[in-house]
Formats: sequence, C-alpha cells, structure tokens
Amino acid sequence: FWAFLQKKFQQEFAAVSYQTWIESAQPLKLENQKIYIAVPSALHKDYWERNISTKVVEAAYEYGNQEIVPVVLLQSEVKKQTMPATQTTNQPASAQKTPLEAAHLNSKYTFDSFVTGSGNQMAHAAALVVSEEPGTMYNPLFIYGGVGLGKTHLMQAIGHRLLDRNPQANVKYISSESFANDFINSIQNRTQENFRNEYRTVDLLLVDDIQFFADKEGTQEEFFHTFNTLYNTKKQIVLTSDRLPNEIPKLQERLVSRFKWGLSVDITAPDLETRTAILRKKAIAENLEIPDDALSYIASQIDSNVRELEGALVRVQAYSTMNNADITISLAAEALKDLKESKHQAGLTIDKIQTQVAKYYKVTVEDLKGKRRNKTIVLPRQIAMYLARELTDSSLPKIGQDFGGKDHTTVLHSCDKIANLLETDLTIQHDVTNLKASLKS
Ligand code: ADP
Ligand code: MG
Repeated sequence: FWAFLQKKFQQEFAAVSYQTWIESAQPLKLENQKIYIAVPSALHKDYWERNISTKVVEAAYEYGNQEIVPVVLLQSEVKKQTMPATQTTNQPASAQKTPLEAAHLNSKYTFDSFVTGSGNQMAHAAALVVSEEPGTMYNPLFIYGGVGLGKTHLMQAIGHRLLDRNPQANVKYISSESFANDFINSIQNRTQENFRNEYRTVDLLLVDDIQFFADKEGTQEEFFHTFNTLYNTKKQIVLTSDRLPNEIPKLQERLVSRFKWGLSVDITAPDLETRTAILRKKAIAENLEIPDDALSYIASQIDSNVRELEGALVRVQAYSTMNNADITISLAAEALKDLKESKHQAGLTIDKIQTQVAKYYKVTVEDLKGKRRNKTIVLPRQIAMYLARELTDSSLPKIGQDFGGKDHTTVLHSCDKIANLLETDLTIQHDVTNLKASLKS
C-alpha cells in the first residue's frame, strides 16, 4: 500500500513538496485498518493531518476498496517508545526541537483559522503581505488594539506561513516580557553573546505586547540594537501592542520613531457578523452542533473581545452537556446569564458613577468633567474614568466625551494609572472597593 501511495503522490505533488512531505515520512505498520506513519516534525505532522491524511483515505479506496485511516506520529515519540532511555538522552534537547517548537508558535494560530471581517481586515491584509514578502514591504509591521482581538493570533500566523514555505527559516516568537527576562538572565549568567546571536540572526522576529517595554531602560537599549541589526539586514520584524508607539509611556523616542518606520495597523472589535463567523468556525473545528440562531445569539451577547466570545461558547457547550440538552437560544441565554451580570452592571451609567465618585471624594461632578489639575480632583477623576471603563460597556471615546470632551488617550492613561495603583496602594484599593459596592446597590 505504501508503494502505491508513493507512486500516486509522486504524480500528484510537485517535486519539492513530495520530497519535503512524503519522502521524509516513514510507514511503521498497517494494523486494524490503520496505517501508522512517522514524520520528522510537528510541522510535518500538522501538514499531513491537514492536507495529506484525507488523500490517504481516498487512495485506500482506490487501492483495494477498503477503509484505511492514517495515524500520524512524530518520529521523536516513536523513538521514545522503542529505544532505551540511555540512547535518547545522548542527543542535546535542542536537536530534537521541531521548527514550530523552536519558534514558539501555537499550532492553532494560523491564517486558516483566522476569520476576517470589519475590524481586522486591514491588519490581516498587511500580515499576509509581510508573510509573502518579509523584510521588504512593511518593516516593522506594528499591530495594535485591545485585548483578545487577535493580535497574537495574526502575528503567529505570519510565522506559520513563513515556516510552511521554508521549514528552514529561523522564526522567533517572544513576548516582550520574556525578551526582557532573557536579556536580564543573559547579563547575570554572562551569556550576552549567546543572547545577541540568538536574536540578531533570525529571519523573522515576532515581539508580542511591546507595551511592557515601558520602564525597562536596559531592555529597550538592547532591543534598539536588535532592531537595527535585523532592519539593516532586511529581516522582518513584527510587533504588537495595545496602543500606538507614541502612546506607550516611557518608550524611548528612538524606538517610537523606528516603530513608525513601517506600517501601523489597528485591530478593532469585530462586528456582529464577524463574531458569528468566528463562532461558527470554532464550532466546526470542535465538532459542536449549534444552530445558527444560537450562534448569532451568543455573538450578540458578547461584544467586547474574541477571547471572551470563545469563553462564552465553551460555557454554553458545558451547560448543554451538563443538562443533557441541545443548544438553543434559551439554553444559551441561561448559560450566559451570570457572565453578563458579573461583567457590566445593567443600568449603570457614567452619570451615576460620576455622581457617586463626586460624593465619595467631596468634589463636584463639574470638577470631574473639568480640566483642573489639583491633586484632590485628579485622582477622583481618574478613578471615575476607571470605574466607567470597568463597569459599563462604554468605549474610550464615549467615556472621554462624558468627561467634558477629553481625548480617548487621556482616558486610557487614567485607567492604566489606576490599574497600576490598585496593585500597590491600599487606600485606593479600599476606595475602589467601597465605590464598587455602593454602585451595586
Ligand atoms: P490578543 O493578542 O489581541 O489579545 P489573541 O490573538 O490572543 O488576542 O486572540 C484571543 C483569542 O481569540 C485566540 O484564541 C484567537 O485565536 C481568537 N481570535 C481572535 N481573533 C480571531 C479571528 N479573527 N478569527 C478567529 N479567532 C480569533
Ligand atoms: Mg496577545
């Protein structure tokens, strides 16, 4: 059967594909209508499962009118099972890493699994261009937007696409925090040379959530040099952040200006249609039976971010399993009831928040909406904005507008400020807890 497959695929695939995917694979055994096949890497496994497995099933019918299903295994897994432990430990760990593992990519975050729609169309198009012509068109590509809107997904999709094309490409995905930690460790362990070699020799560097470089002087310095080396050798850099470069506090001006050299694209929240499409794709991937009206109901209930949308789907699914009932709109409504209540408080308005906060701090609502910079007013104003963002579903521009026409970046800054203070400042923790409680009643 294997010989039959080889011959068939040789005709079907281009020579390079055939060498890459088929010649590297090794048939292990045919048992209980399953053919066990070992492949060298996770990338191969993924490719086999996506593109070749169904062809094998079809070929089996052609071959002997029988049903044979391929089971694709990693060579490293097969070896582990059959070889004595002493032999495997001789190999350095890095030699066994697959390209996907070495690049730190999540196998789920591909272009195939990414749904495009309003809010991400432009970012998606830019990501595609960059993956097709790395280092030439948009360098760096800077993707920014709120949490859970698909920045990490899209960024990693670029890495996948590049590796699909060229499994030898040196791709590296890293969060800005890990980059900072690696850098600090390299200083402590006197391995800066290795660190530099590691980051300055990649073909594609993906640095996620770059806003966490704020306040990290040494790391910014190091990244500046990494950036320059890669840029000058026409290697592609992709960055993400929750905001534009110039809105990141304490980011060195020279980095801000470099980050703007290429293209900055934002991702905004998906509209109802896109949210429904995302849910549908997810439901299909997970083999869930959900009628379309229930899908759009779920999509209509969660409008902030895709991660929460996915969470809602999981919740509805679990609820249906627990109650042994099919998923319908009313079941979804029941399952999502608490979720909605816990997040935004129904009926709570920015008006009410301003009134309560003003009363609590003994200032006036006009003070909160005004521009005076006294310390006694600035803090209550920032707390009121923070609460408006936390407890209502108002957008940043809307909050700014209700606070006497302030810019959305001012609101963002205030929210960040309070979120930071809440981690350390006991008085503010106390105040915010009290205010939240009084707003609930
Ligand atoms: P961010 O990095 O912007 O916070 P992520 O990339 O981590 O967001 O996305 C959160 C989750 O939502 C992930 O599971 C991701 O796969 C999913 N997701 C986001 N946008 C999309 C999309 N357009 N299509 C499919 N899945 C998406
Ligand atoms: Mg992310």
